[in-house]
Amino acid sequence: MSGTDQERWLRVKERLRAEVGDEIYQSWFARMDLERIEGDTVHLSVPTRFLKSWIQSHYLDRVLLCWQAEQPEIQKIDVAVRSAVIRTALPKPKPAEAIEPGQGMRPRPDIGDVRPAFGPLSSGHDALGGSPLDLRLTFDTFVVGRSNTLAHAAAKQVAVGRRGEPVMFNPLYVHAGVGLGKTHLLQATTWAGNGAGERRVLYLTAEKFMYGFVSALRTQTALAFKEALRGIDVLVIDDLQFLQGKSTQAEFCHTLNALIDAGRQVVIAADRPPTDLESLDDRVRSRLAGGLVVEMGALGEELRLEILKTRVNAARQYHPAFEVPAPVLAYIAKSVTHNGRDLEGAINRLLAHNKLTGQPVTMEMAEREVRDLIRPQEPKRVKIEDIQRIVARQYNVSRADLLSSRRTANVVRPRQVAMYLAKTLTLRSLPEIGRRFGGRDHTTVLHAVRKIEGLVGNDTMLADEIEVLKRQLQE
Ligand code: ADP
Ligand code: MG
Repeated sequence: MSGTDQERWLRVKERLRAEVGDEIYQSWFARMDLERIEGDTVHLSVPTRFLKSWIQSHYLDRVLLCWQAEQPEIQKIDVAVRSAVIRTALPKPKPAEAIEPGQGMRPRPDIGDVRPAFGPLSSGHDALGGSPLDLRLTFDTFVVGRSNTLAHAAAKQVAVGRRGEPVMFNPLYVHAGVGLGKTHLLQATTWAGNGAGERRVLYLTAEKFMYGFVSALRTQTALAFKEALRGIDVLVIDDLQFLQGKSTQAEFCHTLNALIDAGRQVVIAADRPPTDLESLDDRVRSRLAGGLVVEMGALGEELRLEILKTRVNAARQYHPAFEVPAPVLAYIAKSVTHNGRDLEGAINRLLAHNKLTGQPVTMEMAEREVRDLIRPQEPKRVKIEDIQRIVARQYNVSRADLLSSRRTANVVRPRQVAMYLAKTLTLRSLPEIGRRFGGRDHTTVLHAVRKIEGLVGNDTMLADEIEVLKRQLQE
């Protein structure tokens, strides 16, 4: 191969770097070498099969175009995996096992003596490892009720899946408000999946994904990170709403696509449905919505009571004298309605009081201890779809009319009302609301909101209509 070929290759690489940006260049192309040029074909090589298939499926056209800009007669790019001999000359990629949940993450039979009283058990020795798992968050301690039956069944299904079997829904996307059991369900899935032995399940918070990925890029071990992803059967990502940053999202999108296309299971939890993840781009959103999307609703009173009982039983393993009379449990289940975290907090307080003072748990003590956990009913999460549906029904137009560009009076007013409600009852931004109303501009939404605000002051009929709509939506 001539020196000019190598020089040309350097120029092509510079073009590539300029086009895709430094980060992506570093993670995918930094270790790509020119082997030779034969006729109209350029032969390139990379150190791993994974890198090869990734470049082939995502960047081959790009590489070809960059090459043609330097040498128009080139028609084809061939990417091969470099032989082992060449590979030993390179820094050895970390073995995938080292950065996955290892033995330490499996539930241990001798839990009685070793487990920490509370709080997470650290599992990672490596910045790229899975996020810590809490030993208590298993399927055994997860109580199933009306609000989470479907999510639970889907997670169980994922957990019992076998390597190589077709996955039923991908990704599995669970969403719910704070404290309603997302993390519990995801960690249970991780424990159960890893416990079965043959499959590898990696649990990451979105923050860990970002941190792991970004620092991996910095330390030039992006390759190892991607190798690790390749080695996992199920990727579980918690709190996806925290995923931020353009390049992180691009890499998340790549990762998601690669895993799903390879038939690996992806499980995601967030505090809102995919359509409401405003910071993600449309392609990612639609990919996320393309699997099974399940919502977990508020914990009903029965479910709360069961969770409390489970908690008391768990505490009694270490504190056998801890007793909570049934009426006290019923009282807490009835009054601490907010979320699972407060239920846990309530039991912890009773336990602490009981241990510190030696006094038995009574109703009076419970009332005093949990007083500040009793909050006024949280307003229900209102969805834009519900607003559109209920407004359309009220004014006898179709939802499609609301989203359409029609400007007849019988559609314009309901549309403005619906946008006004979307702004006042949800936390969505103006651009997001515009997008959800047939791709309108945020100024249109703002105009609608101002218009209705101006009208309700004088028009009592309209004010009443809006009150009725609000009540229906918040029921
Ligand atoms: P999220 O991740 O949705 O904010 P968590 O999974 O952290 O909520 O749940 C908060 C607390 O409530 C945890 O202690 C969890 O164990 C408990 N919890 C929530 N739902 C359930 C359930 N169905 N069964 C048992 N415990 C639950
Ligand atoms: Mg959580």
